[in-house]
Amino acid sequence: MKICSSCGKEINDNAVLCINCGTEVNQNGEDSTDFSKTEKYIRLLFVGLILSAVGFMVSFVKEILMWFFPYASLAPETYAVINLIIGYVFNAVKIAGIAMSFVGYFGIKKSNTKK
Ligand SMILES: [Zn+2]
Repeated sequence: MKICSSCGKEINDNAVLCINCGTEVNQNGEDSTDFSKTEKYIRLLFVGLILSAVGFMVSFVKEILMWFFPYASLAPETYAVINLIIGYVFNAVKIAGIAMSFVGYFGIKKSNTKK
């Protein structure tokens, strides 16, 4: 008996589709399930790296802008609020990106050692 990669129910070895959920059954079963898992982790790592890069770039650009344009025309309260929002949002993006990269990286490592 094979196990459906989608719903986990047992399916006939000759079946092309799962009777329970209709998912197409892979001919080489678990190997391709592992592969798609690894692929998901690679995507997660990739997106995580992009997010953290964007987060770092925005803080860097913000510093440069502050250096060249000291926001003299803005009221100090407005400037403080903008600064706070940018800081919070992109710190969150950075942290999320780094977390995603870590999860992706260790996921790839884990699924590689399993084979
Ligand atoms: Zn199924």
